[in-house]
Amino acid sequence: VEESFDNLPPLPDALDLGGFDELSRVQAQLPAGCYYLRFSVASASHAELLGTLRVEHAGTSITASGDAYYRLTRLPSIPIARSLGAYEAPLPSAGVPILPRGSYRYYLRMTDVSADAAGGRVRLSFEAWEYGHASKRWVNRGARTAELVQGTAPTGYPAGTRFFEGDVRQGGSTRGRLSIGWISRYLRRARVEVDRVSTAEAPRASGSGVSIQDVFDHVKWQVSLVESSSGVSEPSGAFWSDAELHAAMLSQRERVDLDEEWRYHLLCVRRLTSTSRGIMYDAYGTASNNVPREGAAISSHWVVPSAPSWGSAQGQRFGAATAAYFRTAVHELSHALGLYHPSAGDHGTHIMQTTDVIVANASAATPFPANISWQHSAADQKRLRHFPDHWVRPGGQAFGGDYATAPLSVDAADGALRLEVTPLLASVPLGAPVRVHVRLTNRSDGPLRVPASISLKRGALHGVVRGPARRDKTFRTCVLCVDEEIETCELAPGASLERDETLLRGREGPLFDAPGLHQIAVHLDWHDGDHTLRVSAETAVIVGSPVDEAHANAARDVLACPDLLLLLAFGGDHLADAQGALAKALDNPVLRPHFAFVEARRLSEAFFDREARLGEAEALLDADTVWSQSEKAKLTHLRDAASDRHAVPHDAHRARPVSARESPRSHDDNPSVAL
Ligand SMILES: [Zn+2]
Repeated sequence: VEESFDNLPPLPDALDLGGFDELSRVQAQLPAGCYYLRFSVASASHAELLGTLRVEHAGTSITASGDAYYRLTRLPSIPIARSLGAYEAPLPSAGVPILPRGSYRYYLRMTDVSADAAGGRVRLSFEAWEYGHASKRWVNRGARTAELVQGTAPTGYPAGTRFFEGDVRQGGSTRGRLSIGWISRYLRRARVEVDRVSTAEAPRASGSGVSIQDVFDHVKWQVSLVESSSGVSEPSGAFWSDAELHAAMLSQRERVDLDEEWRYHLLCVRRLTSTSRGIMYDAYGTASNNVPREGAAISSHWVVPSAPSWGSAQGQRFGAATAAYFRTAVHELSHALGLYHPSAGDHGTHIMQTTDVIVANASAATPFPANISWQHSAADQKRLRHFPDHWVRPGGQAFGGDYATAPLSVDAADGALRLEVTPLLASVPLGAPVRVHVRLTNRSDGPLRVPASISLKRGALHGVVRGPARRDKTFRTCVLCVDEEIETCELAPGASLERDETLLRGREGPLFDAPGLHQIAVHLDWHDGDHTLRVSAETAVIVGSPVDEAHANAARDVLACPDLLLLLAFGGDHLADAQGALAKALDNPVLRPHFAFVEARRLSEAFFDREARLGEAEALLDADTVWSQSEKAKLTHLRDAASDRHAVPHDAHRARPVSARESPRSHDDNPSVAL
């Protein structure tokens, strides 16, 4: 199986403007900041493209990128969705425009910028990368040039706006007319809503005078903190399970339209069941507005270890260790902006570094937390300035793989490690999840350093499924236990690590949605010094045809429900659509054995003030139940925890399948206004 995902358009190069004259000309004509962009085609006056052009000046270079969204200027007589282009154009006076996610169409990658010596003219060369909402892929539609002449900005623009207008050409033909007008010194704007339990601090600043706006000034994002609720209730005590966090994120956040505001949500609670400091969800689904990368949680009552490396923070309650706590909040927020941990070999103390690494790099001269760098790495700064909107905004594109360089294959190196994947069942009925067993074995003569957990949830494991339609679908965790490195351990010669995972959906939708052969490739990635290493394995399963109409109907409901993955991953009582689809699967004799565990697991875990319902869970399981060893162990753990639910806050060994989401509805091709 070949991997062909996680594709993003390449970022724009920093264009060297060469001599002083050209530099000063371009800087004078196109000052840094955000420009309101408008593109229209004379023959298609019913529609246009609106968006932004971001211009950055650094030294003698200019870096620029843009995004364009489809908009109807004349509406049809029947009411249609905003994501299809029916919305009011934002006013230039309102600052950086926010446009509907479903109308997203092009990323503009600037390849050349020049200004006329006489003034009043600029020439832009760029690539137009089109995003397919259904395919979730970016396609380069080719090079364009725009010859723009300075004009007078229409009313509504800030005073003294630089405004240019002119034709866009591809080769010898004119594509349409483009205008750009300066509107803000900021490139992007967003809000962070903070909701907290009364005993958890709001992470407002570093304690040494660094605010969230200070951190984001480095990337020219305008970011404000909105303190919403300071009295989130804790019906189940200090510890929050993944399901409870997820439910609270959905219910606590203010009902903000992510098509009108970029708002990220931070929930501050006393403790997190599944990790120490912070966590971020990359959850999908349109039906219940469970959208990707919009929320994170941090814990105020985790206690910092009493080790000298933690410097002045050692032994403190996390919320009282102001610098470290605020840093984790900014770190989690930055994951929500689409950033990953740095690649192997990066030992910086910048925002996307894990706290563990920063602590490990502290010294007597610069102890923790004084050694924290309050900005993103240079590479991340460029990403935040110039990544497509659709990647950085909340509810945009779901996480893919790391954007670091391709990992070294351990298999190719010397075969010292062997990864095997085997399905629990060689064939499954249509609609059922696929359970696989993963085993990592040390075949060498000496100990080898490998990921301590080879689970999806811990982030090291991910993969690709290719079904009969021959379209690849990726899967990886939908919860990032972030601000923690992927821990490694020594694997003795001949020893193995084993793990079961349950696969249902991926970023591109259901993984097993048609009868026929499905190839499954799994990859295990981890860092070893300055290298990223990978071992891979493949297997295959057969998905059967529907046995009767009732089975076909139940399978259809399961495959059409994005939130079912969240229910499988988190449990909880808050995902009504998914519980409906699950109930239908349990009612169907063909699918019931494959989903019985999912419901038993949900019932076996308390949810806020609802106690664990062990008897009902038990009654669901019988000799026909299809479940893995990891799932059996998980249920045993939940039964033990039910009597003393928060005594053992650990969840490291559960299956954590992944995610899929359906993007907002949109046309994938609108030939009438194609850039
Ligand atoms: Zn992280």
